[in-house]
Amino acid sequence: MKIKIQRFCKHRQPENAIIVDYEIPYEDITLLNALTYIKTTIDPTLTFSSGCKSEVCGSCSVRVNGKEKLACGYKLQEGDVVEPLRYVEILKDLVVDHSKAQETLKRVIGWQQGISPKENMSIEEEKKIELQSDCILCASCFSSCPVLEVDGAFLGPFAMTRNYRYVSDARCEDEKEKVDAVQEKGVWDCTLCGECTVACPQGIDPKNDIMMLRSKSAQHGYSDPTFLSESDDMFGGGFNPSF
Ligand code: SF4
Ligand code: SF4
Repeated sequence: MKIKIQRFCKHRQPENAIIVDYEIPYEDITLLNALTYIKTTIDPTLTFSSGCKSEVCGSCSVRVNGKEKLACGYKLQEGDVVEPLRYVEILKDLVVDHSKAQETLKRVIGWQQGISPKENMSIEEEKKIELQSDCILCASCFSSCPVLEVDGAFLGPFAMTRNYRYVSDARCEDEKEKVDAVQEKGVWDCTLCGECTVACPQGIDPKNDIMMLRSKSAQHGYSDPTFLSESDDMFGGGFNPSF
């Protein structure tokens, strides 16, 4: 079967990435095994990442035909076009620098601060954050998000899922601080297109988490800035109740 792989070296200009054709003499093979075959038998310079090989670590995420996939779990198809993730620096071929994406976790305070007196959670409380806790930081959702194409400062989906996971944690003691952290380039900048939810290999729903964070934001006195500016345009800077 024939596939195409985008090749790129950091020392080239991004526009100089090239697409290379490869012939894989196997059917029913995962993309990761195909990449390994190419590296060991055709071209040892082909560079890609992998770790657990069982869809757990998230290190082999790439794009196939424009959609994010984990290479270790994806069954190769004739004519597939394989590219690196988007909105992150390409280091070489399919290997990208995840630090820009993971930097967003700092911006959203994506961890538990302090120790709550409530040390043990009930089963029900654990279940509320179970799905979000399964995030493997593969950055597939980040790569799929159309907002990042026009605004590189947008927090992106997984950071807000992580934020919501801790905001919803029964032991959370800094909810307001965490909700504050997703206002700038965060919950209100998302278009709710759902691409991130489709891309997630863990079945996480970042779009829904962002909607839940909007609701939390409203509870803390925030509202959609777009709505406010549209109201200003409509009512000339102030709502007239007799309108
Ligand atoms: S729902 Fe929001 S965060 Fe998810 S891909 Fe669309 S714009 Fe990005
Ligand atoms: S939310 Fe899903 S797609 Fe996004 S980083 Fe986590 S596991 Fe990957």
